[in-house]
Amino acid sequence: MIHLRVSDLKQFVYCQRVVFYNYVMPVEKKATFKMEYGKIAEDKINRLENRRKLKEYGLSSGTREFHKQLYSEAYGLSGKVDLLIKTDAAYYPVDFKYTASQPHKNHLYQLLGYAIILEDVYNRNVDKGFVYLIPKEDAVVFDLTGELKEETKNMLDNIRNMIHCQQIPPPVKLQAKCLDCEYRNFCGDVF
Ligand code: SF4
Repeated sequence: MIHLRVSDLKQFVYCQRVVFYNYVMPVEKKATFKMEYGKIAEDKINRLENRRKLKEYGLSSGTREFHKQLYSEAYGLSGKVDLLIKTDAAYYPVDFKYTASQPHKNHLYQLLGYAIILEDVYNRNVDKGFVYLIPKEDAVVFDLTGELKEETKNMLDNIRNMIHCQQIPPPVKLQAKCLDCEYRNFCGDVF
């Protein structure tokens, strides 16, 4: 089984070609502003989260683990979640974003990837996840339904199939997404 990362799900929803380039035509990527800023933001996340209370996630109790590395052998999937909140009843993945805009569909599928691993490895319910918007200090909650998890598992199969067949997918429809893409130099049919 081809090993995949949770970030592949996020990127596949953003643009299927990004995942194709990563696996089939590995090229040296140009670091984007988003990538560089992500490294700086990690330190800030730790400082902010240490002051934050669990009630901001609608929870009264629980323990927190930062930058938790996750791996499911059954799904051939790994990832590092920014924060994992554990309660007796359920586990909650939290992803931090240094943006004030609302999270997009690709962020939902990132949370679903973590949920699939957590349910497999820890045998706990993971039916909600959060995207924490750092500038707004706001936790946006997502329902991680069984139907969405099945869709995510099918997406893993589709990604593996794309890699196996080595067939380049079409470019993303919304070309505004290409502007700060690290692979923009390779999409000659877009630019
Ligand atoms: S430049 Fe656009 S089409 Fe090409 S990989 Fe990036 S987002 Fe996708």
